Amino acid sequence: MPELPEAEVVARQIRTRFLGTRLREIWVGREDIVREGYTTVLWYRGASLQSIERFGKSIVLGFTNEQVCRYVVAELGMTGLLLFQSTQVKSPQHIHVRLLFDGSSESELRYWNPRRFGRLSLLDKAGLERYLARRFGVDPLLVSQPDFVRVLRERRGRLKSLLMHQQVVAGIGNIYANEILFRAGLHPNMQVGRLSVGKVERLYGIMREVLEEAIACGGSSVRDFFAPDGTEGQYKRRHLVYGKGGQPCPNHCGGTIRRHQGERSSYFCPRCQSLRSAK
Ligand SMILES: [Zn+2]
Repeated sequence: MPELPEAEVVARQIRTRFLGTRLREIWVGREDIVREGYTTVLWYRGASLQSIERFGKSIVLGFTNEQVCRYVVAELGMTGLLLFQSTQVKSPQHIHVRLLFDGSSESELRYWNPRRFGRLSLLDKAGLERYLARRFGVDPLLVSQPDFVRVLRERRGRLKSLLMHQQVVAGIGNIYANEILFRAGLHPNMQVGRLSVGKVERLYGIMREVLEEAIACGGSSVRDFFAPDGTEGQYKRRHLVYGKGGQPCPNHCGGTIRRHQGERSSYFCPRCQSLRSAK
């Protein structure tokens, strides 16, 4: 938490509010929040915000100043939020960075994170390229179906772990992996090598459907996710299996949603998501 849909909601709201706006300065409350590039913080004075992109669960703000580009990369991680000034937070001491834009009111974008070490980077173009290449696999909303099939089938391992592996598919975490696999009728522990091309193609469509639907609902507010304007994501109400261990299967198959404890809990219906249904 947050995952791709929440990060996408964050990026879209920031775009609407601040795209094209001039930055007065970046205020950094604690140096150790900045993983890389702290010494360049003064460069950003007077730069204008030219792009807001999402990569996996990270938000990349692109600034230009006299035709030079630099970037602010904010990792939302498990607990990070980017918030507009008017949005109240319960522990304001965790606002570690403020981007002060031109404008008389509502001109701050705040980075709030109770886990503070190295979650923000100030990078030049080459630095951003290195950062992106190291960390992110294909984007579920941008990758083509043939590329998705290829990327998944050239790997080994359990299906759910691969879907959540950021360097394979960027942006899916535990909530959406569980929801996608339930809708696809695939067992989380299935070996990806046992899936037919047809099953992976179907999984691709369902993955995009679930993520697009979640974005349209403003994401899922589980463990305190808020969009920059303070609204909660409503997709939580549409979760079919995540957090629903012990409840009857929503497909009315007569089965019960099972919760498997692992590093991240898997929620699935053993009847609808049989390990034998691969082909
Ligand atoms: Zn079922």
